[in-house]
Order: sequence, then C-alpha cells, then structure tokens
Amino acid sequence: MPSPARPVLSVVVPMFEEEDVLPLLVARLRPVLDGLGEAYEVVAVDDGSRDATPVLLASARRRWPQLRVLRLRANAGHQAAISAGLAAARGDWVVTLDADLQDPPEVVPQMLEAARAHDADVVYGVRTDRSADSAFKRHTARAFYAGMRAIGAKDAPDAAGDYRLMSRATVEAVNALPEEHRVLRLVVPALGFPSATVGYARAARAAGRSKYPLSRMVRLTVDSVTGFSLAPLRLATWFGLGGFVLAVGLLAYALVAKATGHTVAGWTSTVVIVAAFGALQLLSLGIMGEYVGRIYSTLQRRPSYYVAHDSLHETSAEHDPT
Ligand code: UDP
Ligand code: MG
Repeated sequence: MPSPARPVLSVVVPMFEEEDVLPLLVARLRPVLDGLGEAYEVVAVDDGSRDATPVLLASARRRWPQLRVLRLRANAGHQAAISAGLAAARGDWVVTLDADLQDPPEVVPQMLEAARAHDADVVYGVRTDRSADSAFKRHTARAFYAGMRAIGAKDAPDAAGDYRLMSRATVEAVNALPEEHRVLRLVVPALGFPSATVGYARAARAAGRSKYPLSRMVRLTVDSVTGFSLAPLRLATWFGLGGFVLAVGLLAYALVAKATGHTVAGWTSTVVIVAAFGALQLLSLGIMGEYVGRIYSTLQRRPSYYVAHDSLHETSAEHDPT
C-alpha cells in the first residue's frame, strides 16, 4: 500500500453536495498548495452527498495524488464532518476550510507563516470584511459571538468561523474531547493554546446554495450554549426564585383580603398567574431537557459520524493513476 510519509500540512475540507463548487475549489486550492513547497494532503470529507460530489472527487483524485477522500456513510453535519477530517488528518499542521471558497485558499500560506513567526499553535482566520455575507448572516453571527462571550466562552475570537490552522498538538487535543456535539469554533479557543490571527475578506459562496438552513443555525446555537454555559439552568433558578417571592406576596395579599372580607373574583389575575407560571415551567423544563439530552448523547458514546471509506487505505490496484 503506497502510504506516503506524514505530510507537513493537511487541509480538511468538509463538503455536502458541492458538485457546483468542486471544480472551482480544485482549481483554486491546488496551485496554492503546490506552491508551498511542502508535503501536503487534502482530506476532502464527503458528508454523505447524494449528488455528483463523490464522482467528481474520484475523478479529481486521479489527477491529484495528494487528494484524499473520506466518505461518511450519512450526512453528519458541518461540525461532525470537520471532526472526521481532523481525526483522519496526518499533517504536522491542519487547516480546515469550507468547500464553497468563502474561505480564500490563498490565505493558507499566510497562516503557516503566522504560526511559525509567532510560535503559535492555532491561527484563526478572522473575517475583516463580511460584506459578501447577507445582512441576516452578519447580524446573527455578531449576536452569536456577543452572546457566547456574555455567558462564558470568553476566548472565542470575534468573527472567526471554522477557517483556522492548528498544530498537531491542538488537533490531538480536539480529537481527545469526549463531547459528541462539539462546536469547534468555541472548543478550540477554550483549549488555551497560544494563538495568532490572520485577517481575510470573506468571499461570497462561489457556486451552489448554502447548506446551513435556519434550523441548523438554531441547532448550532443550542449546542454552543449548552456546551459552554450553565447560565440557562441558572436562569431557570432565578425565574423560580422570582416566582417564589411573587407567590409569598400574593399569599399575604390573599390572606389580608380574606380577613377583611374583600374576596373578589379575580379571574384576570388567576389566568395570568396560571399562564405565566405554566410557560415558565415549560421553559425551565425545556432548558433542563437540552442539558439532559447532552448528557445522554455523551454517555451513549455513539460516534457523531461513520467513515464509510478512506481513499488512503485503498490498495494500489484500486488506485488507478491514469
Ligand atoms: N457542510 C457539510 N455538511 C453539512 C452542511 C454543510 O459538510 O451537513 C459543508 C459545506 O459543504 C461547506 C461548509 O460545510 O463546505 C459550510 O457550509 P455552507 O457554506 O453551506 O454554510 P454557510 O457558509 O452558508 O454558513
Ligand atoms: Mg459557505
């Protein structure tokens, strides 16, 4: 089996149904990596695509020996796909970037340079210009980072997505984390490795549609919050305390009203109290449910992705370099 020596750089690219951008990606990424003058591998993680992505990857691989294809059995999601790539990557350095060319590949050499110049283990690609993103995306992203910092993820750099360079030590530390739903952009800063940043202008998606509908953004936010903070649970406690104080006041009022014979039929207050406390109880239960669910899925230790195939382990007969 032709298993080349460990590369200096691994580039992990998660992709889900990216047939439209794949040719553009190969055309942009390859010259940059060939120009590095270092041994590299590209780990394309095919996140269970049902379009032509696997076919295009297979044909690109025949012309690009450094391209390695990791096929996941089913769609596992962006973060899990990156995790799969990180677990498979062999490089001393590992870059993760999106397939849609929103993270310009030309920044990779600058990231390596910055890591070596600053002796940093992590180099974040920080978006200095997001004008290519929709206003909705920009605002939700800003609220996300501000909110996450407010509830405890202090080291999350603003405007850093999943475009980053990590040292081998950092990647090993990420791989060793037991959580199933890890949000890498928050987990990596929390590891506390020395870091540097490189600014870049976030481009528009080169082709195809976003694979991040609103429901996935909500899921990512819930995973981020429950993965990083107990604040929502404490919020439920505070609601409970407030409700208790209010209840004591109402009790005193009711007793006084009873004693003085002013027991008027209080329909409005009854309905409001029942409705408000019912809602608060359901909210608190829901918040607890999110944490319990997280404990549950972590205890199950079921992998968040299944690798169906890794082209690295193909026999030479299968790998037909024609
Ligand atoms: N992606 C993935 N699995 C998914 C959804 C997305 O691997 O289930 C990949 C996608 O192909 C892209 C990256 O994750 O390379 C970011 O997704 P996208 O560009 O659609 O998100 P957006 O930039 O709109 O937030
Ligand atoms: Mg994108």
